[in-house]
Amino acid sequence: MIRELTHFIGGKPVPGGSGSFGDIHDPNTGTVQARVPLATAEETRAAVSDAAEAQVAWAEWNPQRRARVLLRFLHLVEAERDTLARLLSSEHGKTVADADGDIQRGLEVVEFAAGIPHLLKGEFTDNAGSGIDVYSLRQPLGVVAGITPFNFPAMIPLWQLAPAVACGNAFVLKPSERDPSVPVRLAELFAEAGLPPGVLNVIHGAREAVDTLLTDDRVAAVAFVGSTRVAEHVYTTATAHGKRAQCFGGAKNHLIVMPDADLDQAADALIGAGYGSAGERCMAISVAVPVGQATADALRERLVARIGELRLGRSDDPGADFGPLVGSDALERVREYVEIGVDEGAELVVDGRGAEVPEPGGFFIGPSLFDHVRPDMRIYREEIFGPVLSIVRADDYEHALRLPSEHEYGNGVAIFTRDGDTARDFTRRVNTGMVGVNVPIPVPVAYHSFGGWKRSMFGDLNQFGTDSIRFFTQAKTVTSRWPSGIREGASFTIPTMG
Ligand code: NAD
Repeated sequence: MIRELTHFIGGKPVPGGSGSFGDIHDPNTGTVQARVPLATAEETRAAVSDAAEAQVAWAEWNPQRRARVLLRFLHLVEAERDTLARLLSSEHGKTVADADGDIQRGLEVVEFAAGIPHLLKGEFTDNAGSGIDVYSLRQPLGVVAGITPFNFPAMIPLWQLAPAVACGNAFVLKPSERDPSVPVRLAELFAEAGLPPGVLNVIHGAREAVDTLLTDDRVAAVAFVGSTRVAEHVYTTATAHGKRAQCFGGAKNHLIVMPDADLDQAADALIGAGYGSAGERCMAISVAVPVGQATADALRERLVARIGELRLGRSDDPGADFGPLVGSDALERVREYVEIGVDEGAELVVDGRGAEVPEPGGFFIGPSLFDHVRPDMRIYREEIFGPVLSIVRADDYEHALRLPSEHEYGNGVAIFTRDGDTARDFTRRVNTGMVGVNVPIPVPVAYHSFGGWKRSMFGDLNQFGTDSIRFFTQAKTVTSRWPSGIREGASFTIPTMG
């Protein structure tokens, strides 16, 4: 019997109803390992109703009590961390060690959100006018929704829901239908930690469920992470329906290698950030930009040598550097892009399509490396989301700076150099949201914030950090005076504090 997932609504599992089902594959073998119900509009609305009911009482809990739920959740996850990492790896295809990192980066935002009593403190002005005090509060929005991608099934749901519920909202999560088991388990653990039923509901589904969330009047805000095409659809639909929206999309992250860089360090960084998780990270490096021909030749030589040592393996193989892609469509897309690159005239230095694979039916593809890639090529302009690294040779520093700055995506970028002056100039001028200096994947820590620029993000406020507290709350400002027995009579001019 094939395992069948359930939604998680009102603190308990709810089986799929009249809607259809999606297949969850084992990426190592290509076989179907479970089925996930895809919610209808009616089922999605039921999850929102349940959340709306639960939110009212939850918002009345004081912030310190809400924080204690998050702290208990952290302990519960720790106790079954290895099981969770294996479950995540078995549906996604990333290695177990990498899956553990996925969980860890999510937990760090839960730790941040546990500081909610401090984060929610408002502002107060004593005696703003004669006998008048002014203060501000941050209050929850009500029901908020999160729609998340397949590539970080623990981290991104936690980035969204931890600050949202800490602020006193109820959260309806629509995780990726490709690897939804971990998000459900996280919701069960929240329930065990004392989160009241309905404050966190998980509803599985695809476009019908998403569009229902985007148009339901009771949903006040939508947080989305996924491809740019869907991010734009979610942003325009949600905002047209009067909701707040923060929608994070695709990427094409460059790593600039200056002639003075430590080339071994840069090559190691490119291999890890380019091929780790089979390139299925929004912060993966997909473009290497060596400055000058001599740097390019020396870098290429090092990359080729290191690629030769890479181990493609099953996701549960502790010796594997990276595992299979998530699905057959992803495999097909990456193969197609390699073909496109060849047709466009880029030099295919290493062809991952012929790599030896551990299981014949699995969604495996080896690492590919292109050289002499040009900005007009599709393999440069478009997100491949697979283990394919392109070398674009830059003539000089200004040329290298222009490449990521002029690209339509602006998620992350890195520069490798030993020169502080160059690094400082680069970080100030590059037109990209997150920058690494000798750090290839500059995902900020939980108490800063995460967000790209240009077509990598639609919206104003970033994920986690104080931005997330602002996103999931609305400000209320109170001007108050207590009667002192003095009557001033009616005033017909705008009140001033003069
Ligand atoms: P995706 O856009 O296919 O799916 C994301 C979510 O949207 C899923 O929950 C899916 O069910 C839903 N969805 C898909 N098509 C839809 C449609 N037509 N209408 C409504 N909802 C729809 O993305 P994915 O393949 O799961 O994830 C990979 C993408 O996510 C990459 O482009 C990657 O760069 C991006 N990503 C971005 C960030 C970031 O922070 N910028 C982080 C992780 C991943």
